[in-house]
Amino acid sequence: MPHLAHSHAVAGMIHRLNQPDYDRWANQIKRTGGCRQPIHLRGKVEHYDQATGHLLHRYSTTQEPNGVLRVPCKTRRVTRCPACAEVYRADTYQLVRAGLIGGKGVPETVSSHPCLFVTLTAPSFGAVHVRREKTGRVLPCHARRDAQTCPHGQVMSCTERHSADDPRLGEPLCPDCYDYDGSVLFNAISPELWRRFTLALRRRFARLNGLTVKALREHVTIAFAKVAEYQRRGVVHFHAVIRLDGPDGPNSPPPAWATADALEQAVQHAAAAVTAEVKPLNRTFQWGTQLDVRRITMNGDLTEQAVAAYIAKYATKAAECVGTLDRRIQPLDNLDALPIRDHARRLIAACMRLGEHPGLADLRLTHWAHMLGFRGHFSTKSRHYSTTLGALRAAREEHMRTEQVTTGRLPLFDEDTVLVVAHWQYAGQGLSLGDAILAAAIEGGYR
Ligand SMILES: [Zn+2]
Ligand SMILES: [Zn+2]
Ligand SMILES: [Zn+2]
Repeated sequence: MPHLAHSHAVAGMIHRLNQPDYDRWANQIKRTGGCRQPIHLRGKVEHYDQATGHLLHRYSTTQEPNGVLRVPCKTRRVTRCPACAEVYRADTYQLVRAGLIGGKGVPETVSSHPCLFVTLTAPSFGAVHVRREKTGRVLPCHARRDAQTCPHGQVMSCTERHSADDPRLGEPLCPDCYDYDGSVLFNAISPELWRRFTLALRRRFARLNGLTVKALREHVTIAFAKVAEYQRRGVVHFHAVIRLDGPDGPNSPPPAWATADALEQAVQHAAAAVTAEVKPLNRTFQWGTQLDVRRITMNGDLTEQAVAAYIAKYATKAAECVGTLDRRIQPLDNLDALPIRDHARRLIAACMRLGEHPGLADLRLTHWAHMLGFRGHFSTKSRHYSTTLGALRAAREEHMRTEQVTTGRLPLFDEDTVLVVAHWQYAGQGLSLGDAILAAAIEGGYR
């Protein structure tokens, strides 16, 4: 079989290299920036003079290799496409960084606004194998002198000093005792818990300063950017940058009484106070007790660079780092046969089972089983935090458009007087084996 695949790939490469439009194809591939699974678009773009209705220019993919234009997939998931995930990561870094020190349309004065780096964790759903370090030494996992034996005969103790790559890390001491339902329900409800946290934070911060929420808005905006990260045990936690601005967002300074101290107090209070219910099951969830709040300063322990890099790193990580699948679970999938660890399998099974519950339909647990119940966005920010990923993408697309104009693919027209009519159709995705090898060579600069 490997031989067959090999000769098939070689035949594909030779076929591609012999095409008269090979250079054009190679050019398309170059422009996708090394995308592993480019999207194929079939269609046309027409430019009309708005006054006369005359067709000025038509671009159609019929002239392109295989009649399609290949564009980057733009995924943020590194397991699917490292090149596009890297673009996403770099954009996220720029976005978070602009919110901390300015740039990309955000004034530099934003760096003087009080700013915190906050980590909100999930509560415990049962004891799991962990690696803890103290002053450079690895501590025993769960050393208990008089450890209980659980109803399944498992002694709830583990004295091992786990190595960093021990596959048991994050897995329960007793899977039969572990609250799998709680774990996936927490993931499912966590976006709502976050939303309530932001509301409670505003309320508390207003109160600390003797104001109503409405009155606070006239003086202070609380801006944030956050990312979700999967812990080894398969629950999400959130890292957030929380910043105080004046009433007009990053362009206006907060009043002197709006201090980092007061913000920190409000974060502590809000994190401990908020809950979210899953009413049909009569369950209530709140954040774990491990709350980490740190000041971000230009020259302190936690610099803006470190925070931006940290947030960007997690923006491209999804649940696959826990050992689940990076695709949707299909109804006909045999869970027992999936190539995943037992812990992930049990989490997915809990999603599939709870997904059948009519009262939980809006959590869409079956749909998000491969994400272990989490259906939120990996990185989000409030309206005023900084620039947007969309703006960064638009800037890059503008650059690509300029390149298309200079390479003769698009005519240079005045945008105000020209009507652009575009018809695009999805025509597939990915590269054949032979094409993928050629694409890798192009990216590597061999041609
Ligand atoms: Zn891609
Ligand atoms: Zn252990
Ligand atoms: Zn047990």
